[in-house]
Amino acid sequence: MLKLCSGCQRLVRQQLRHVRRSLHAGGTVLNVENKDPSSFSWRTHSCGELSTAQVGQGVTLCGWIQHKRYDFMLTLRDAYGVTQVVLPEVKKGTGESLEGIHLESVIMVTGKVQQRPDGLANMKMSTGEIEVVASEVKVLNASKEKLPIQIHDFQQVKESVRMQFRYLDLRSTRMQHNLRVRSSMIMRMREFLCNQHDFVDVETPSLFRKTPGGAKEFLVPTHQPGKFYTLPQSPQQFKQLLMVGGIDRYFQIARCYRDEGSRPDRQPEFTQVDIEMSFVNKEGIYSMIEQLLEHAWPQEKPKLNPPFPRISYSQAMDEYGSDKPDTRFEFKIKDVTGILKGSGSSIFNSDDEDFTVRAINCKGAMDHLKSKDYEHLQSEAKKRSQHGVLIVQVRDDLTWKLPIAKHLPETVRQEMAQSLEVSQGDMLLVAAGPNNSMCQLLGQLRLTVANLLENKGVQIRDPDNNYNFLWVEDFPLFLPSEDRIGELESTHHPFTAPVAEHTPLIYSAPQKVQGQHYDLVLNGAEIGGGSIRIHDAKLQEYVLQEVLKEDSSCLSHLLDALESGCPPHGGIALGLDRLISIICGEPSIRDVIAFPKTVEGNDLMSGAPSRVEDADLARYHLKVGNPK
Ligand code: ASP
Repeated sequence: MLKLCSGCQRLVRQQLRHVRRSLHAGGTVLNVENKDPSSFSWRTHSCGELSTAQVGQGVTLCGWIQHKRYDFMLTLRDAYGVTQVVLPEVKKGTGESLEGIHLESVIMVTGKVQQRPDGLANMKMSTGEIEVVASEVKVLNASKEKLPIQIHDFQQVKESVRMQFRYLDLRSTRMQHNLRVRSSMIMRMREFLCNQHDFVDVETPSLFRKTPGGAKEFLVPTHQPGKFYTLPQSPQQFKQLLMVGGIDRYFQIARCYRDEGSRPDRQPEFTQVDIEMSFVNKEGIYSMIEQLLEHAWPQEKPKLNPPFPRISYSQAMDEYGSDKPDTRFEFKIKDVTGILKGSGSSIFNSDDEDFTVRAINCKGAMDHLKSKDYEHLQSEAKKRSQHGVLIVQVRDDLTWKLPIAKHLPETVRQEMAQSLEVSQGDMLLVAAGPNNSMCQLLGQLRLTVANLLENKGVQIRDPDNNYNFLWVEDFPLFLPSEDRIGELESTHHPFTAPVAEHTPLIYSAPQKVQGQHYDLVLNGAEIGGGSIRIHDAKLQEYVLQEVLKEDSSCLSHLLDALESGCPPHGGIALGLDRLISIICGEPSIRDVIAFPKTVEGNDLMSGAPSRVEDADLARYHLKVGNPK
């Protein structure tokens, strides 16, 4: 414990006059208005809230030593900010100094608030006009000397190191901010749903059973030989069963599990805001979600402006080549089959019914792109299409810089120019082949071009449209299965209802049926999806058995429930991790998850998943061969 005598205080003040460099602020600034971070604790104030209003007041602060300056000064950090502390003079040889106490040690400081001497205020710090002159400093827990992460320059630390030492990384301003944004959004969602609109927060089981099409489910062995639980991909069935059970407005901050292997920016476990309502249609769900987001939206962000625009699935695929289009910029796909088919080059010749020629005009792109950018675009294209893409550079005289151009009649070039509103400096991307793949190829390339240009400082995305929400709707109920050739699979999931007027088509031409499924897209990322459900047991059984060719017997509980007085119902789930990462401007969902896993699904901090002993396996009647 260090005591400061008044003489020392005078000395400190004198020495301070010679310190002309203001201290590095490093300040976390969290809004503590109307909040009381000191309640229930030893501290009287947080490190982010003292100002000249408290000058002369006795205070106690707790936190981590962020910097030490000379022998007599330190900055103390907690989640709310940083406060400068002036220390007692070091009494040599008495062991009562902070010498040997390393940065990031946890201390408690008791002292008095004083105005900083003339010229030493640091206006970049929220507490920069004051300092605390310590009368007592208690080391609560000394840190070891060398930590793998320097908290103030964490940004230069490799992500794998941040994940390995997450408990240190969490001290950073960035992670403190992100987790608090997350927490307060969840709090406001609960407020809106439970307090204002009578939703009931219900927990559903994490141990469930294998379901049809549940290829991505994690298996959990049990003591019963050969029997497994699964971890649910979502509480889908439970929330529908809650509707049957009369919990007519359900919500849950639900942990979901998907064993999708290594996929960038996916986590094997993730969080959804899961919602279900009885007696509702699509419009009711849209309006509820728009109001929910408006209510929960961080106050410091630009206000949302619902209702959100809507686009049909087919328009999204046609114009943007994606079911989650980024509509913050143009570069729309155009169908130019009528102009180019059969003209000059063999690339444009095909008798396939599905053959299409599509093009995008990337306005003004040629002025900014270099040959290595064109190579990059071409190699991206080749990954998706054997023929790649034709990259047309439009010269000043509006002629095309493209080898095959000389085989094209002048009229074709003119028609293209008219259709795509071509002017000098534009770059056209032209792709010919099967319809869906060409649209998806150009959809991917329009994003690549936009990113290339933005990296060069060209503004492509609308700067006034930072949070661009969009409903995507009118999806087909079924799509051709990717794994089982000739079969259909659900676009969303097997419980989604067809639009009423298409119900008869389920029995005759299921591939033509439109579903009551909707997705919510934010800045080109899918952040939510849901549907109005099938509440008719016979229809549900027919879809499972006859259309999807699934064994419906393991869903007998649901089918039974549907014929036991099930109200019409629908719902949605928002992907909380993605939503928060976009709000926080983070490139990865890992930056808004306290303890994330790597792309490969590993926890670098604890080493999960880990090997277990044979004896442990035996309890579960399991044996592992020879793991490499
Ligand atoms: N359970 C669905 C999902 O996880 C969402 C829903 O239909 O409500 O995507």
